[in-house]
Amino acid sequence: MKIIKFGGSSISSIENIEKVFSIIEEKAEKEDFALVFSAFGGVTEQLLQCASIAQQSEESYNAILQELEKRHMAIVKKLVPVQQQSTALTFVKVRFNELGDLFHGIYLIKECSDRTMDYVLSFGERLATFILTAGLRARGKEAVYLDARDVVKTDDRFGHARVDFKTTDALINDYFASHPGLKVITGFIGSTSKGETTTVGRSGSDYTAAIFASALDAEGLEIWTDVSGVMTADPKLVYAAFTIPHLSYSEAMELSHFGAKVVFPATMQPAMKKDIPIVIKNTFAPDEEGTLISNDSGNGKMIKGISSMGNISLLNIQGAGLVEVIGVSRRVFGALADAEINVILISQASSEHSICVAIQSKDGAKAKAIIEQEFYYEIKNGDMDEVVIFPEMAVIAVVGENMQHNPGASGRMFQALGRNNVNVTAIAQGSSELNISAVISQSDLQKALNALHEAFFLSDYKVLHVFLVGVGLIGKALIKMIASQQKKLQEENMLDIQIHGMANSRYMKFHEDGFDLNTVAPPDENDIPMDMDKFIDTMSGMNFSNSVLVDCTASQDVSDVYERILDAKVGIVTPNKKANSGPLDTYKKLKKLAGQRGVRFFYETNVAAGLPVINTLQDLVLSGDHIHSIEAVLSGSMNYIFSELEKGIPFSEVVAQAKEKGYTEPDPRDDLSGMDVARKILILGRDAGQDLHFEDVEVQSMVPEDCQDASSVEEFMEKLKAHDGHFQKLLEEANNEGKKLRFMATLENGKAKVGLNALDSEHPFYTLKGSDNMILFTTERYNDYPMIVRGPGAGADVTAAGVFADIIRLGNYSR
Ligand code: ADP
Ligand code: ASP
Ligand code: MG
Repeated sequence: MKIIKFGGSSISSIENIEKVFSIIEEKAEKEDFALVFSAFGGVTEQLLQCASIAQQSEESYNAILQELEKRHMAIVKKLVPVQQQSTALTFVKVRFNELGDLFHGIYLIKECSDRTMDYVLSFGERLATFILTAGLRARGKEAVYLDARDVVKTDDRFGHARVDFKTTDALINDYFASHPGLKVITGFIGSTSKGETTTVGRSGSDYTAAIFASALDAEGLEIWTDVSGVMTADPKLVYAAFTIPHLSYSEAMELSHFGAKVVFPATMQPAMKKDIPIVIKNTFAPDEEGTLISNDSGNGKMIKGISSMGNISLLNIQGAGLVEVIGVSRRVFGALADAEINVILISQASSEHSICVAIQSKDGAKAKAIIEQEFYYEIKNGDMDEVVIFPEMAVIAVVGENMQHNPGASGRMFQALGRNNVNVTAIAQGSSELNISAVISQSDLQKALNALHEAFFLSDYKVLHVFLVGVGLIGKALIKMIASQQKKLQEENMLDIQIHGMANSRYMKFHEDGFDLNTVAPPDENDIPMDMDKFIDTMSGMNFSNSVLVDCTASQDVSDVYERILDAKVGIVTPNKKANSGPLDTYKKLKKLAGQRGVRFFYETNVAAGLPVINTLQDLVLSGDHIHSIEAVLSGSMNYIFSELEKGIPFSEVVAQAKEKGYTEPDPRDDLSGMDVARKILILGRDAGQDLHFEDVEVQSMVPEDCQDASSVEEFMEKLKAHDGHFQKLLEEANNEGKKLRFMATLENGKAKVGLNALDSEHPFYTLKGSDNMILFTTERYNDYPMIVRGPGAGADVTAAGVFADIIRLGNYSR
């Protein structure tokens, strides 16, 4: 069962009502629902107008009333065939007679209480709903008219009555249990326990619908109106506004509370309580998706929408005597509350010298008088200045859950206002950080709305929040690179990269606004001791919409948290091979998770440092190519060793040289064992689409057996000398055949191998020198001649450059 509500704008004319009826008929074939209607578009406004004219003892309300009666009669005649019209016509006639009497009474006594006004306004909903019920019956629907006053019970705060949910829920359920057929319900109205008519607030039919949805545990609530959902701003004021596909209940509440009239603020509460999704749809474009409001905020955009309220006055209460005087705020707000004046926004300078209160303009004079009365003596003594009132102001608010702790929002907001010459008189931000609001002059409203809309929704400017683990050689080089390119990226690529957290194995530190990268030093003992869990907690706590963890370590402990990171919708960029070359399941899980969470996991530098190997391979596969084979020299140190060997230098000496030059790991066995290369070809194989396990890679180690368990590096280097002859022999054999020795990895026919090969001069690796890497992809498309990537494949700078390129790519993706 669903509750479906159509607002006044959907039923403002016969043509529109026809559209509503076809939507209803189409739905009736598929699902079970009850309907809620408002008054016909504009009727509530005209009833208010009549009351206000009558109150001034003027008779001209009569003309409006007659027009209204004609409009209703005409709708009956169009919707209902002549033979069935009498019930509806009589209903309309009797209601207008009653209304005539009512306005005459108001006219005579020149007074219209809130109680009377609610009764007057109730006619709008009752008339429309009764007529539409008759219309639906005429179309063969078994429709029953339900006057919500029979079931929605409220207190007697006329004009904005509070619902007694316990009684109401029970009455609604009783009614639904005992009345079969399609229930057609009046929105907006209810009644007190004494049976007096109340209303739940202007535009409150949405709320009525939510009350029914909650009472009946409906599976959904649909609100049909004249726009395609909740939009980024009021489309009547901001032409570039577009539909927000998904909002959380809190966001929708905040937007509507600050003026987005499209849905009444209180509507979200009953729905939220029962977790009932609300969908806002357009009667005039029913195929458009509209907006889903549920308990999840959808995408991670920092700002969801901008809303505004016009006709605001700002009260400024100030004076030297207010500083450090306890209880001033209590008295201000107490006095305003006693007078039932709704406070929209409060702002107090920390000097306590002034309190600023935004209220509706209609309450302005009354509020000023009340405050001056409350502080009569203070004003008289000069402790407080006269209360100043600024009329014709407006409140503008940017709303979004992801603004929490996000320093970008207010900066961008006020920059945009400033750039457009909009003067801000007061600012307030709720501690929930769901909205930031500013009071501006009413005459600037439309300009301000458009400026903010452009700044938040139309510019491609994007902030990428980086959390860096590992501030060693690569990490430091990376920070330097980002620092030197930061401005250029902001200006030319509209990408702002900020580092908010950095950690090495011992310490970590954070900066909400982003570190100054030109001066920042790695964390040390003055910072917080490193703890990966705390690092993640702090990162999540900052709640940035677009974050990335950059792992410049080689640590298993760090790669172990990748799953949690991706799950929290944070991207990952890393040269750390541990995760991708670990268990196949982990590799697959991480890929899948990144896809599900809509975040990126980039690891170009897992293989051959900054050379475009992984991206090239992934692009080939993604674009439909098939990888036949990969041949690769993936270890700069091994390539260096074997090319030096050619110069006639003994193997053990070459290794010693390579170690000295820093080309090998501290223990050269880590390179010579071939394990590192094996991990790299494993990753390439997996990215080429093969289900490879580490054990599947056949590795020929270059560490002679008797050297393997040498207890120290020195001992190993010493023992290695005994094998110089063996390597010399291998080299000679190769040379005799005109070949060269290359330590390489291959992937062919689903098999991955790592080892030493003798290659002839035809082979592209034949000419490979120094510590370069080289990768050949033979594919369906690159069949006759392989695709070749070649260049330096190791070193902090080229690795950092590769990491940086991945970060930029990630930033550009997440726009
Ligand atoms: P209904 O009669 O269906 O209840 P309303 O007139 O109460 O419709 O609400 C729809 C109107 O709300 C739209 O026509 C639009 O001008 C206004 N509106 C204000 N802010 C927004 C917004 N952020 N998104 C969509 N509409 C908005
Ligand atoms: N008709 C009422 C109003 O205009 C209630 C509604 O439209 O939701 O305020
Ligand atoms: Mg409305």
